[in-house]
Amino acid sequence: MQPQMLTLLRESRGYSGARLATMTGIPQPTLSRIENGLASIDDDRMKLIADALGYPVEAFNWTDPVYGFGSAAFYHRKQQTLPQTALRRIQAEVNLTRMRLERLMRSIEVDAQHELPHLVVEEFGGPAEVARAVRATWRLPMGPVRDVATVLELAGVLVLRYPFESPRISAISLDNVAAYPALIILNSSMPADRERFTLAHELGHLVMHTTITAPEEAEREADSFASEFLMPAAEIRTQLKGITLERAAQLKPVWKVSMGALIRRAKDLGVIDDRRYKSLNVSISQKGWRKVEPVDVDRDKPSVLGATLNIHLREHGYSVEELAKVAAMRPEEFAARFDLELGSADGRRLRVVK
Ligand SMILES: [Zn+2]
Repeated sequence: MQPQMLTLLRESRGYSGARLATMTGIPQPTLSRIENGLASIDDDRMKLIADALGYPVEAFNWTDPVYGFGSAAFYHRKQQTLPQTALRRIQAEVNLTRMRLERLMRSIEVDAQHELPHLVVEEFGGPAEVARAVRATWRLPMGPVRDVATVLELAGVLVLRYPFESPRISAISLDNVAAYPALIILNSSMPADRERFTLAHELGHLVMHTTITAPEEAEREADSFASEFLMPAAEIRTQLKGITLERAAQLKPVWKVSMGALIRRAKDLGVIDDRRYKSLNVSISQKGWRKVEPVDVDRDKPSVLGATLNIHLREHGYSVEELAKVAAMRPEEFAARFDLELGSADGRRLRVVK
């Protein structure tokens, strides 16, 4: 048993040590000693803990490194507004997701079409220039990016969605470390336009922030990268002249960004003045569009994970139950998490397939 896995798996359920003690009948001081590697654990108690947390015993034996939010490999937004327990739960869930994916993808070759570049902002002049460089290097066609998630996957970045408890977390991204590919986990509660902006923002972090940058500056840089990546100034400027709410609603499905982002872009590019920007924003607030905007945008379709699971199920002859074992999850949880059907030969409910 790996003590740090016990801590991680407990935190992934949002349980305190005291709660786990009550659930298992193991005294809390003993549990604490076990988690700190100061006491050993017998099979009976191990089983009690595994059952209480809803994981197979094997999950507690993994020796993977655990990454904290403070590490350079770990980006996320607005952590300061979340309580510690919620943060720890998310951190645990993200670490576990990465460990599971690494195992599920171990035997599968995913050919990246292009590389994820690491670029120094100062050398390019600014984040917008970096965004243009990335678009150029990847030979993206002019105009809107059709599917940001797929573009990221072509650069070897895994994209998946997860229902984070708090809407304050848009996404968490992890840089590639050792055998782990770079990973972006999106909060599944986001609308498609915000999801795409978030993906572009996270891409900005992955490209520009391999060394520690002051968090606020890093956030600004990632936003400005995302704006240029999704709405290149040279191509969108004339379309934004004299923008109205009606015009924003027309442009939204074309560029697949929110009306708010288009209006902000118009201001940043200097095609509307401050007064106009403010009055548009007042209207947006009055209509309640700050929370939910009208006009739907097509969702991006990341497909690498779905395709990987499909290969295991259809070509390698795994059952969903066997794959759950690889991921050290209970079959029910595994199936729900990856949208698969238990008991069917090929996990037929699989949707994210290309
Ligand atoms: Zn960020």
